[in-house]
Amino acid sequence: MPKTDFSSIPSVDSILQSPLANDLINTAGRELAVRSIRQSIDQIREKMTSGHSLPDTDTIIQQAENLVREWLKPSLVPVINASGIILHTNLGRAPLSEETIIAMRSVSWSYNNLEFDLYTGRRGKRSVHAEEILQKLTGAESALVVNNNAAAVLLTLSALAKSKKVVIPNSQLVEIGGGFRVPDVMRQSGAKLVAVGTTNRIHLSDYVQALEDGASLVLNAHSSNFKIIGFTTEPKLEEITAAAHSFSVPFVYDIGSGAMIDTSLFGLSHEPTVVEAMAAGADIICFSGDKLLGGPQAGIIIGKKDLLDKIKRHPLARAVRADKTCLAGITATLTHYLKGEALVAIPIWRMISLDQDTIYQRAHKWQRSIGQGEIIKGTSMVGGGSLPGDTLPTYLLALRIKKADKFLSALRSLPIPTIGRIENDQILFDPRTVLPNQEEIFVQNLNEVLHKKI
Ligand SMILES: *Cc1c(COP(=O)(O)O)cnc(C)c1O
Repeated sequence: MPKTDFSSIPSVDSILQSPLANDLINTAGRELAVRSIRQSIDQIREKMTSGHSLPDTDTIIQQAENLVREWLKPSLVPVINASGIILHTNLGRAPLSEETIIAMRSVSWSYNNLEFDLYTGRRGKRSVHAEEILQKLTGAESALVVNNNAAAVLLTLSALAKSKKVVIPNSQLVEIGGGFRVPDVMRQSGAKLVAVGTTNRIHLSDYVQALEDGASLVLNAHSSNFKIIGFTTEPKLEEITAAAHSFSVPFVYDIGSGAMIDTSLFGLSHEPTVVEAMAAGADIICFSGDKLLGGPQAGIIIGKKDLLDKIKRHPLARAVRADKTCLAGITATLTHYLKGEALVAIPIWRMISLDQDTIYQRAHKWQRSIGQGEIIKGTSMVGGGSLPGDTLPTYLLALRIKKADKFLSALRSLPIPTIGRIENDQILFDPRTVLPNQEEIFVQNLNEVLHKKI
């Protein structure tokens, strides 16, 4: 085989001199332009060894531009969620309200008083920012916002129960998904786990026995993502609190999703609400910011001041602290509840409370715009590890397409990827979870893939 002659390949410097390279340098910067041209030349050299001829300089630059475009493409991008799962953990959980986004933006572009007391002109505490509204909303004495609920539980146990016995029902030693296992988190905090009762039944006497044996904290974790049905018993929260308090021991309740509104109003099972947990006398309550609360990722700890003071002082509090955008966002989301406008202002509650008529109209509009498909009755889910097995009635746009997997994969590869689901060989799109301002692109995306040969 004759040796390939590479001497005709232009140098990087000479390519950089060509007029087309100017555009590349302008968009990518000189360093990245050089790197992409080098890589482009490497690829050409490889092709030449397998018999291809040398392309012209413009083609080399075009190839470099494609490389740069690929390199600069962000990995994390908006998607359209037509899956019907409202709190989709893989799709970033709760989309935020307009006011929440504005609040997060305004503390991002500018300096702010994150840890600065505007009254005294001295150093302040970041924990004050979301605290007041949490006190107003829940009646709790004190509050702290941290990175997420896993961190909230870990920090609480580390601060209150390190090297101490913590009693928890066996039925609550669960994995919440994404690697949050209650027993692992407890061990990580240094607490000594005392599991009582059986998988399906726990009696008040089980708690009392553990307390008599020296437990220093009672923990309940809402089994958010599964249900035990049948022969089950659990004492009332008030009874657990009373038992803990009779031994001067705190009752910590991880309610998980942080519902401020009763889900049973919408035909769903009842999720424990923050207000109920407070009313039952729990000393510390932990919940997520981005599940049923509908805000940014956060973990919220509310409760008794003396306990929260200990939690705030623990070294781990610094490691899991919330950033300025989180604090601004959580406060703005909580403001919707304070103003009694959560159902209309918070996207996930708008979705949960969406009426059948509106859903049908939207599905119908989609059907008209793409000129095919069938509108069928179906179900949406809350998701995000809340309300397992619970569904909301909905209308779906259903498409019968031979290569359903390929169709969905084509939808995912668009600039604004679109997510649907397959059931019984049909591709289903649920209007409930498609944000109104994404509807136009959603229909465009469907049309684009329908008219492409896949
Ligand atoms: C979801 C959940 C967690 C974890 O919350 P993150 O905010 O995802 O860290 C912990 N406990 C319970 C009961 C949950 O439902």
